[in-house]
Parts: sequence; C-alpha cells; structure tokens
Amino acid sequence: MKKKILILPGDGIGPEIVTEAEKILNALSQRHDLEIEIEHGLIGGSAVDAAGSPLPAETLEKAKVSDAILLGAVGGPKWENIERALRPERGLLAIRSALGLYANLRPALLYQELADASTLKPEIVSNLDIMIVRELIGGIYFGQPRGIRVREDGQREGFNTLVYSESEIERIARVAFTIAQKRDRKVCSVDKANVLEATELWREVVTKVAADYPNVSLQHMYVDNAAMQLVRQPKQFDVIVTTNMFGDILSDLASMLTGSIGMLPSASINETGQGIYEPIHGSAPDITGQNKANPLATILSAAMMLRYSLDQPEQAARIETAVKRVLADGVRTADIATPGMRSVSTSGMGDAVLSALD
Ligand code: NAD
Repeated sequence: MKKKILILPGDGIGPEIVTEAEKILNALSQRHDLEIEIEHGLIGGSAVDAAGSPLPAETLEKAKVSDAILLGAVGGPKWENIERALRPERGLLAIRSALGLYANLRPALLYQELADASTLKPEIVSNLDIMIVRELIGGIYFGQPRGIRVREDGQREGFNTLVYSESEIERIARVAFTIAQKRDRKVCSVDKANVLEATELWREVVTKVAADYPNVSLQHMYVDNAAMQLVRQPKQFDVIVTTNMFGDILSDLASMLTGSIGMLPSASINETGQGIYEPIHGSAPDITGQNKANPLATILSAAMMLRYSLDQPEQAARIETAVKRVLADGVRTADIATPGMRSVSTSGMGDAVLSALD
C-alpha cells in the first residue's frame, strides 16, 4: 500500500526548500519504486493569512491520516506581533502535541567535505556522528503548575515544574537504545541527578531499561559536564538521550559543531512511528525568495522520514549517498561556499542531488 506523506511548506524559505525535497521523493517514486502518495497543507503564518489559524483543522485532519509529515519552516517578521495564539510557532507546538510526538531525533553529523565550516579544529570534529534523542512533550516546558504569581511580600515570582513519570522516561529511553543498536551501541543519558529529583528518577529508569539492551553500553553524565564534553571531545558520543530542556540546549550546541545550519535534519516521532521531519533551521526571512537557501537539511529530513517512519532504509541511504556525492563534487550553496567550489542556487542543489541519485 502507498504510504501517505503530508507536505507542509510553511513560511519564508519553507516552500523553496520543500520543493527540492519533493523533487527527490518524486524521483524515487518514479525511478526506484518508492510507493508514496503526497498531499499538501498549510501551517504557520501562511496558514494564518489563508485560513485564520496557524494550524487549520483541515491540516490537522490530513496530518492524522498521514504516515509521515515533511515540514519546511514557520514564522517570520510579518507575524511577530500578532496575537499570541495566532503566532506561527503555535501551529508547530500544536501539531507536535496533537500527534503525541514525544521523541525528537537530532543528528549532528559532520560531512568531511565541510570540516572547515566548524568553529572547532578539524581533528576534533572530523567524522563526527552524534544522535541526540530529546524528550519533546514533557518535562519543564509542559509541567504544571506554572506561571507568574504575586508573593505575600508583594514581589512577583515566576515558577515552572519539572516533572517526568516513569513511563515517559521509559519510552524515550527505549527509542535511544533501539537507535543505538543500529549505530555504535553506546548511549549516554544526560541528567542533573545530583540536584534534581525528577532526573534522579530519570537515571534510575534509564538504568532499568538498559537491562533489556545488553549489547548497548550505558553511561550517565551530568548536563554541565555533557556541555563541556561536547565541545572538548565530541566524538566520544554516539547516542545522547536527555530531557526536553537539556536536549533543547545540547542539540543546538551539537548542531553547531558541524558548522552549517542549512545541513541538519530532524525528526519528531510518536508511539506508532508516525513523525514530522523538518530541517533544524527556521524560515530565514533574510534570504527568502532569492533561490539561495540550502535545501540539503530538508532533503536529508526526507531521508530520515524514509528511514524512521516509512521503513525504507535503502531509499534513505540512496538520498544520503547522493548528498555526500554532491558535496564531494564541490557543489555548494552560498551558506557552505568555500573558494574554488561550484556555487549553486536552491534549485541547482536540488537538481544536483537528483542527478546523483542513480
Ligand atoms: P533561521 O534559522 O531562520 O536563520 C538564521 C540564519 O541562518 C539566517 O541568516 C538564515 O539566512 C540562515 N539560514 C537558515 N536556514 C538556512 C538555509 N537553509 N540555507 C542558508 N541559510 C540559512 O533563524 P532566525 O533568523 O532566528 O528565525 C527566523 C524565523 O524562523 C523566526 O520567525 C523564527 O521564529 C522562525 N523559526 C522557525 C523554526 C521552525 O520552523 N522550526 C525554527 C527556528 C526559527
């Protein structure tokens, strides 16, 4: 049966980069028997303009019946000052939570050809390949009670709640161990168990889950040390599993080790394996409409989608190999350009990957 893919281009460079990923998916379908059916929908600011909501009911309905979703980016200056409930980012948070996307996978992979783009020395980052597994719909970003209240002495205080249940910890731990089994079989669980009871329980549960994955080694690390180690010796890591907030911070840090925001994909998946796949960058209003954006993060997000939601690892590898080939051939968009390389536009990069597919 054909797999249903919903494409949500979003705002800014979203439509430009998603078009290139769609080209690749269509080519796989025509030339390599990938059985897919593509639908489109609105999300973010463009959805506010067209339908009065950053996540129109029609989009959510289409999302619920799809096997996977490929998203560009949302947001931009046009919608920065509108009513909070209508802000583009609200659409993104709402779809993640409506689909129960609890596991966020963020690879930090350095392409050898782009080693110069990192701010760290090449020997520290060469062949870097880390997968950060971040819990996405729990922890302090969602815990209740939360708010800003007035104390008895008249001062205001802000408060949030860090809370994790055993089942929330267990399911994210299982995602990390399962992924590690297909990689270098090492999981590092990052917490602050010396200070926070919620992560003391986190450590205990992750340790218990590890017993079911005897071929994967488990290490625990405090978050402050993990931040330091990621910069000092990032290649010691294979899979990192951590809470929502720690993952938010560490995954941005890790992605920058690779030096190129336009290169990194991400996945957010739920218990049924359904997921949203999107580049880690935003809508890049400064280069929108100029055919300048790097579409590779989105194209690589499509590859992750094939691997994690559509069970098509060979098709995923076909895309990833094509991207490597194109980089090795010296094809570059402006954001990763270095002297002597061949500069191409957004669509030029998409075309280059397309011809490297076979
Ligand atoms: P951004 O990621 O959009 O841009 C940061 C810088 O990186 C810009 O100079 C941009 O030109 C460049 N850049 C980003 N993607 C690129 C690509 N594919 N190719 C080449 N260069 C690229 O971050 P920002 O400027 O902080 O945010 C812009 C808008 O995007 C805001 O409205 C923000 O809320 C939104 N945003 C959305 C998401 C998302 O949709 N998941 C994530 C982050 C930011």
